[in-house]
Amino acid sequence: MATEQLRIPKATAKRLPLYYRFLQNLYQSGKLRVSSAELSEAVKVDSATIRRDFSYFGALGKKGYGYNVQYLLNFFRKTLDQDALTKVALIGVGNLGTALLRYNFTKNNNTKICYAFDTNESKIGTQISDVTVYSLDQLEEILNKEEIQVVILTVPAQAAQSVTDRLVKTRVKGILNFTPARLNVPSSINVHHIDLAVELQSFVYFIKNYSNESEDT
Ligand code: ATP
Repeated sequence: MATEQLRIPKATAKRLPLYYRFLQNLYQSGKLRVSSAELSEAVKVDSATIRRDFSYFGALGKKGYGYNVQYLLNFFRKTLDQDALTKVALIGVGNLGTALLRYNFTKNNNTKICYAFDTNESKIGTQISDVTVYSLDQLEEILNKEEIQVVILTVPAQAAQSVTDRLVKTRVKGILNFTPARLNVPSSINVHHIDLAVELQSFVYFIKNYSNESEDT
């Protein structure tokens, strides 16, 4: 996110991409304004939270008018640094890594996986979508040269920490960890852990045992 912007609470910051995506859709369909109730229904965040979040952005909705879609969109674009492409690297081009490379996040925002790394000789030098797979031997050289700050980790769990130890010595500031391994990193590095198997398992448990309640209660 752009550094010159005022600091907003982390919980609010996490909701920004969600708001941004919805507002983009509204804008594309020609809508000029939106109420907090409409936003609330669409993004499933209660309207009091939306009003508080938006007050941090200086967007004060008018009663009976709502929020100006264009104003919000401009704000989010700047705050989320949408005018500049954020280059991301992916390590481990297995089934999940390949799926993420094919998806490549470009539909909704300006973030793109530009480099992929693997240790498997048969994958090195190949291309998935338009991304070339490089040898892990070139990791530090490419990450530092290209100033990559965010890495997606889709290696096998047993390789996750040793790869992370190498990342710690580069300019990388954030790791999106799709492996089941818990990573040890210094406080200067942010790790966001997404364990899809655990997510699915706990969701199935929830559906079987609490199917009439909302997941957050
Ligand atoms: P596949 O069927 O292609 O092997 P998978 O998702 O079942 O996919 P995993 O064993 O999870 O395979 O490995 C994911 C990918 O990570 C593989 O392409 C593997 O070559 C690669 N890999 C393994 N060890 C490392 C490492 N230390 N650094 C980078 N990539 C690695």
